[in-house]
Amino acid sequence: MQEPFDTTLEFAQRKDREDELQSFRSRFYFPRKPMVAGNPPLETQSSPLVTDRSLPTAEEDAIYFCGNSLGLQPRDVAPAVQQELKDWQDLGVGGYLQAKNPWLTYQEPFKGTLSKLTGAREMELTVMNALTVNLHLLLLSFYRPNAARYKIIMEAGAFPSDQYALETQAKWHGLDPDKTIIEISPREGEKLIREEDILAAIHQHRDTLAIVLFGGINYYTGQLFDIGGITAAAHKVGAIAGFDLAHVVGNVPLQLHDWDVDFAVWCSYKYLNGGPGAVGGAYVHERYAHNRDYVRLGGWWGNDEATRFKMEKGFVPKPNASGWNMSTSQVFNMVALKASLRLFDEAGMDRLRAKSLELTAYLSFLLQQLTNISFDIITPIDPAKRGAQLSLYFKEHGKAIHDKMIAAGIIVDYREPGVIRVAPAPLYNSFEDVHRFYHILANFQQVA
Ligand SMILES: *Cc1c(COP(=O)(O)O)cnc(C)c1O
Repeated sequence: MQEPFDTTLEFAQRKDREDELQSFRSRFYFPRKPMVAGNPPLETQSSPLVTDRSLPTAEEDAIYFCGNSLGLQPRDVAPAVQQELKDWQDLGVGGYLQAKNPWLTYQEPFKGTLSKLTGAREMELTVMNALTVNLHLLLLSFYRPNAARYKIIMEAGAFPSDQYALETQAKWHGLDPDKTIIEISPREGEKLIREEDILAAIHQHRDTLAIVLFGGINYYTGQLFDIGGITAAAHKVGAIAGFDLAHVVGNVPLQLHDWDVDFAVWCSYKYLNGGPGAVGGAYVHERYAHNRDYVRLGGWWGNDEATRFKMEKGFVPKPNASGWNMSTSQVFNMVALKASLRLFDEAGMDRLRAKSLELTAYLSFLLQQLTNISFDIITPIDPAKRGAQLSLYFKEHGKAIHDKMIAAGIIVDYREPGVIRVAPAPLYNSFEDVHRFYHILANFQQVA
């Protein structure tokens, strides 16, 4: 049983003292508030590569609830970048084998942590490219429409990149997107998609459905979908089930293997803190490792290492998800992810989720005490149907209120139409952050 929340600052501070994960906060850099007196403007702050910035203090730090968009920088990143720079200086090409973290296999240790975050076997995981590229690459293997089966089921209001990807995949195959893509919408007057409507659509299109491609969590509403249930329904009618887990990995624990998901992709710069444009991740169920019927585009990094340099004709994909890799590991694009995954290992996904459930429930509780601004929390109330994020829907003045939040040193984002997304990340956000957020909002004048 969760203890009852209250609105006092003391409550938040006590929760932080009792929080086993509290110390992780000090292992991240927080953006500073723009307005605080005595706070140097950003351009005059010394580079963390040269000297370390002081530990964060609550007054100077912005309240950062945007880890669903770009996770913060772990303090271990700069030294880790320095290590790779030094190994490159000292070793040149020798770094592929002799660097402290040999570049040839740089990403291999990631798989252990990612396996715990996603519930996948290590051989089902790889890191490469970026999310949308990986979505296209895996669709090339798993979306092979024919005259009988060609339809795609996806959520209405999916992230724009996913919409563009599926539209252009349909066109790539010479199909009309309007006749190919079935979008599942919320019912009239509702904001969330009902699970029963997804399952009904899968059943309705059972004879023509090629693939179901859903976001794990919708970026706008924060709704977490039943990934296992959707997968089972797709498989029952002979369709493939793929997921975009951009908002899920590092946020909500997954069981991709046991749920029998065919493939999934994600980015590493949101909850995983891999830094802007960080290398993406992908999962492919092990049943496809040896199945060459699912043709994959080849490149040397996806070829079996034993034969890669034999200069023989014929692409021999690695018998695992890395068989979808193409190019040399993007080492500098993985350094921050490596540093961050170590923190996930230390914290443990179960403890993170347990804290996240409480932190977001506390946020929800405090927001419901506000009487001076008017909004609806459109994210599901049921904690099993959401991650860290709450989406606040403003019928009016949403943008103006967002601007006021930014001016007050609160970093959250605004998504049309009318939604401010608020996502406390359990790895570095505190109960006091949530309380400070509430306290600032409670003192807003009514926006007219
Ligand atoms: C963030 C996000 C992306 C971003 O894709 P990139 O290729 O990494 O730019 C795609 N899909 C969803 C659902 C996202 O949330």
